[in-house]
Amino acid sequence: MKEREVIIEAGLNLENTYANLPKIFFTNQILGHVPSPKIAVLNYPLIESLGLNAKALQSDNGVDILSGNKIPEGATPIAEAYAGHQFGNFTMLGDGRAMLIGEHITPKGERVDIQLKGSGRTPYSRGGDGKASLGPMLREYIISEAMNGLGIPTTRSLAVVTTGESIIRETKLPGAILTRIAASHIRVGTFQYAANWGTVEDIRALADYTLKRHFKEENYSGNPYIFLLKEAIKKQADLIAKWQLVGFIHGVMNTDNMAISGETIDYGPCAFMDTYDPRTVFSSIDIHGRYAYFNQPNIAGWNLARFAETLLPLLHINQNEAVNIANDAIADFPNQYKNNWISGMRRKLGIFNEEAEDEYLIEGLLSTMQKYEADYTNTFRDLTISKKEDIALSGTVEFEKWYDLWQERLKRQEKSEEDSRELMKNNNPSVIPRNHRVEEALEAAADQGDYSVMEGLLKALSKPYSYSKEQDYYSTLPETSSCKYKTYCGT
Ligand code: AMP
Ligand code: MG
Repeated sequence: MKEREVIIEAGLNLENTYANLPKIFFTNQILGHVPSPKIAVLNYPLIESLGLNAKALQSDNGVDILSGNKIPEGATPIAEAYAGHQFGNFTMLGDGRAMLIGEHITPKGERVDIQLKGSGRTPYSRGGDGKASLGPMLREYIISEAMNGLGIPTTRSLAVVTTGESIIRETKLPGAILTRIAASHIRVGTFQYAANWGTVEDIRALADYTLKRHFKEENYSGNPYIFLLKEAIKKQADLIAKWQLVGFIHGVMNTDNMAISGETIDYGPCAFMDTYDPRTVFSSIDIHGRYAYFNQPNIAGWNLARFAETLLPLLHINQNEAVNIANDAIADFPNQYKNNWISGMRRKLGIFNEEAEDEYLIEGLLSTMQKYEADYTNTFRDLTISKKEDIALSGTVEFEKWYDLWQERLKRQEKSEEDSRELMKNNNPSVIPRNHRVEEALEAAADQGDYSVMEGLLKALSKPYSYSKEQDYYSTLPETSSCKYKTYCGT
């Protein structure tokens, strides 16, 4: 079958408008070659929703496309340039092991990036091999799909292929490539790159492109770049509140890992908190806890301030005025975040209306959870479905007192007990990708080639609010707390 036919059959409808940006933003990429690509996982529901064809993707030509061995017609593969503050230190980066094969236009008219991660060296590889190993790519697949199931904006995972190569890390590991779908890969770091190595016209070109790609023109009036800044802030205030509400810890919130689209991006050493402790850090490289759970909102604000700085030349002709505009916009982030978080917490507790003391009630529960080292997810899960005496915190003085306050609070609203329970079910996941379950799935898949464990986990994670009986297995805690669980960058 000819390549063109495969593209048509696969339903790929590719453009690459990013390649129309000034040349400094990307480098054209040529074909890679991996010896023996094989599909490890394919995301059938996602394939369908993007208007792609699973059968064609499974064919030899399809697998060649998913492994970067063939470049589909209509595609202009590129590696994107960007910079970033990594743990606070500014540096030049870029897609060092990824290639954007194009922007696919879905049948609904949405434009999404199709990117191969682990596809080989690029000019931005900085001494790295440009490759990825199977375990971390499957891990990104699981966590990103879990985030999607939880209703949290995220890049998606379309496929993982093994390459047939061994790659060298501490040991030899099987090589793999993840096909990532994203609203775009424009990062805070992309703007930082433009501001540091480009001209004002380059920044403007990137800002105009971002506006066109992610926002409807009819929604903004006045200076469009102020609108862009405020919208990016709004999206992050929404996203980070959602992370905090489910206990998600990204692990490496460098400015290059923050997408302007508001999607969670670049799953590395991320994990979900189990025992409630705001100081939780999983990443082995985060020695000072910069990206600890409690600090994520602060870091998001810090990253957004870096974003605002890059836009200064566009915000106002007078730079003092521009700084004032940027400061005002950034100063609003903590309020927006907090409002989103409190509203989310109210929903987790079955509360429909607002009372000034709600924050006190919420903090009362959290501090009790911290004191008694309760599991974050399961505490809310138990409040949702269990009898009081079956809740782990039951019997402690603090919890008994808190429970009465909560019950009184619920009675001070018009809604019924049933309504509250329903609200709680829709806002407290009964399953999250628990570290021991993720490890179990990865071990079976990456070490033994058995993907059934991962499939079971993915199925449970696709409907985290369904509270079905089959999901109970996935909400059990490990025998010892995985608080000491460590995640690695996995490059
Ligand atoms: P990450 O921690 O995955 O966000 O990556 C940080 C930077 O390092 C990005 O610019 C990546 O493209 C780059 N990078 C990560 N792993 C590799 C690798 N194996 N080879 C080349 N570049 C890499
Ligand atoms: Mg990154």
